[in-house]
Amino acid sequence: MTTLLDEIKAIIGDRGPITVEQYMQLALTHTEFGYYMNRDPFGATGDFTTAPEISQMFGELVGLWAAEVWSSMGSPRPVRLVELGPGRGTLMSDALRAARIAPLFREALDVWLMETSPTLASIQHDLLLDCGAPVAWAQSLKDIPEGPAIVIGNEFLDALPVRQFVRVGGQWRERTVGLNDEGDLTFGVAPSPEPYISAAAQNGEILEVNPAGHRFMFELGARLVKQGGAALLIDYGHAVTGFGDTLQALRAHRYVDPLAAPGDCDLTAHVDFAAMARSARATGAVVYGPIDQGDFLRAIGIDLRTKALAERAGPERSEALQQARNRLVGKAKGEMGALFKAMAIADRRLPPPPGFQPNAAKTA
Ligand code: SAH
Repeated sequence: MTTLLDEIKAIIGDRGPITVEQYMQLALTHTEFGYYMNRDPFGATGDFTTAPEISQMFGELVGLWAAEVWSSMGSPRPVRLVELGPGRGTLMSDALRAARIAPLFREALDVWLMETSPTLASIQHDLLLDCGAPVAWAQSLKDIPEGPAIVIGNEFLDALPVRQFVRVGGQWRERTVGLNDEGDLTFGVAPSPEPYISAAAQNGEILEVNPAGHRFMFELGARLVKQGGAALLIDYGHAVTGFGDTLQALRAHRYVDPLAAPGDCDLTAHVDFAAMARSARATGAVVYGPIDQGDFLRAIGIDLRTKALAERAGPERSEALQQARNRLVGKAKGEMGALFKAMAIADRRLPPPPGFQPNAAKTA
């Protein structure tokens, strides 16, 4: 049986080394063998667990966040509620259930899921069959009808392929994936230097750029500025642009060599929130945060929600709720509260979205 590894080796054998960006693109979204394309990677039996899979509270709070943003927008009908890379659809399902307490919001909803994987789209379809709102799928923002929108994305940006540049001999060269003497995949660098990067750094440093992320932020910001709305992006990453190789592969909840089994493990890179924010701001949109996920969830009421659910539950379930809350909010090693960050992008006519402080840059 051919594997993606064989296929990538053949491509490199034919045309020479490919860039890290091309490698990541093939590993994740190759139509036949790409990681997301034909599997359900989430949960205990999968490769990794995401916040909405840890607790229903995550999606519920995001749903209430969206309802509040909607009313700050003047309650437009219809409003597109867009989710980017919805995975199993758990976040959306929890969000729509929680939004039952805001019936006018629920009635205004036109739900759009932006998903590249047919397998995951079909899982989302089954889960959301009876959700009570119209749901449709799109491949890009352009496919989603015009009008005010509320956009949500958890662990979407980290799945977009990054380019890497390595500092070698005082110059930046693009990092590539080629073949070694044994015919195995190995990292290398492009033969000629990049003329347009002037950042000074020690030899060996790595600079990451997320072109698809930038394209997306331009499109998103432009849409929100023109047609109204706000977006919430939650991901793991850093608030300030810096150097470092953050490409990582996860299989069965363990880190593995990113070159070992393309298509069979999740491949991600940390999100450079400062870089993403620069592109969104360039469209005239206002950017809030990023702030720590833990602070964001507390500001939008995770402690009250944990308490309310725990009061209605038995002691065992109540303990589980508390543990889930700690995993999402806590800032210790192994917890997500500080590693993950939340950033909002909004039309500048709107007040700061729930959970975010007024942005000084807005009036500047
Ligand atoms: N948001 C979910 C899943 C995160 S995993 C959760 O929190 O559990 C990344 C998701 O993004 C998957 O659904 C994957 O199929 C999707 N995805 C990856 N690249 C994409 C792209 N270019 N366009 C749309 N969806 C993409």
